[in-house]
Amino acid sequence: MIKRSFFGLVKPKLQYEIIDDAQPEPVNINASEKIMLYIDQPYENKANSLLKIGDQVKNGQKIEVVKDADAYMLSSKSGQISNISSFVGFMEKKLTAVTIDIDDQANQLLDDSFKDVYKTPSMENAKDLLSGLPGKPDFDVFFHPDKPIKSIVVLGVDGDLLTTTNQWFIKNGIISVKTGIDLLRKITGIHDIILIVPQHLAQVAGSAGATVKTVDSEYPAAHPQLIIRHILADKNLGGNDIASNSGIAFFSAEAVSAIGAAYKTGQIPLDKIVTFISKDGNKQLVSVPIGTPLQDILSQLNESLNDGDRVIFGGPMTGVAVYSPDFPVMPDTDAIIIQDKSQVVERADVACINCGECVRVCPANIQINQLIRFLEAGQYEEAADQYDLFSCIECGFCSFVCESRIPVFQHIKLAKHTLESMNAAEENNA
Ligand code: SF4
Ligand code: SF4
Repeated sequence: MIKRSFFGLVKPKLQYEIIDDAQPEPVNINASEKIMLYIDQPYENKANSLLKIGDQVKNGQKIEVVKDADAYMLSSKSGQISNISSFVGFMEKKLTAVTIDIDDQANQLLDDSFKDVYKTPSMENAKDLLSGLPGKPDFDVFFHPDKPIKSIVVLGVDGDLLTTTNQWFIKNGIISVKTGIDLLRKITGIHDIILIVPQHLAQVAGSAGATVKTVDSEYPAAHPQLIIRHILADKNLGGNDIASNSGIAFFSAEAVSAIGAAYKTGQIPLDKIVTFISKDGNKQLVSVPIGTPLQDILSQLNESLNDGDRVIFGGPMTGVAVYSPDFPVMPDTDAIIIQDKSQVVERADVACINCGECVRVCPANIQINQLIRFLEAGQYEEAADQYDLFSCIECGFCSFVCESRIPVFQHIKLAKHTLESMNAAEENNA
């Protein structure tokens, strides 16, 4: 729900979606013929690749391009690899796209790798076999001795507007969230686990075996960096320190639930809960195997996609447009929005009118009206040095309010990505 201010001096308010008692069970969607897995690893040296066209894969099998790479995916179906190719993702990220033609749904073969280790839970086997779970748990953060993790925060809130995935797990799956929290405590040795929920879910969250804290319903209060700043301020974490340097590891409630289910049963859950928003604005939760192409979701929900319509993976503030009905559900796809051509607001190529709306809403207090001039001129280093580019928490609020419809947020992401790539290249050369 959006409440616009009456007077320009008051910032507009955006409220997170609240899950209510009438929320039905997610609709089950199945992958019809194939799944597609995008692995965060370039497909450059084909001779060295572990993957070959024609390889058989099993349900739950780890799919990695090169041996012992950190990046891998888990196949949500058994079948045969029919294609492997390079794919350029968002911000020109080089990925490997693996297509798997699905075996007969009735004859799914299960991979045994996790079955062999699930009775002895450890950080090592979690990192090695569970990083591709729904919710994309990040176990790597526990393997940096120079940045020790002292607390774990479980997000029972959703990161963007309109999405309700994590709330759904708190409301309907608190027992498996508790199992996951117990497991995380056991394998990390960390006792300080905090569960962040909206106010209306505080009572049910109380049975999860963690310290419960509530977050405001106003966007972007549930952003990890704002949680650190406003809710965990008593932890003495060094003010506005970014999440990765704060000694805190963040996990979504969905990921924690999946960790719990995996270690409890020995079977890896690979169905993702996604908020699907159709052209008419209808919202529903769907449960869909990771890797399922968008087209399968559209056809099973009777949603059409016509020329000029827009598909957004992610929420309305931070999601990205995708341009193919083959694009698959990823471990962190929390929402899919279909916009009719008539609803699409085109970004404009016009100058900033210095209205200050973006500055009023920015939770990082960035002088965006000044910053945007450097970004549009491609002067990224000056933008970082003089206008705090890297303080941006990527909430997308500035783009939403921009009177000139400038894609401010996208400019910021591109600038950060470009500078980070340049720094990484310099470090490699050195
Ligand atoms: S996305 Fe825009 S509004 Fe949000 S923190 Fe960054 S600059 Fe500020
Ligand atoms: S970038 Fe957009 S919102 Fe910000 S001052 Fe300029 S016109 Fe206004």
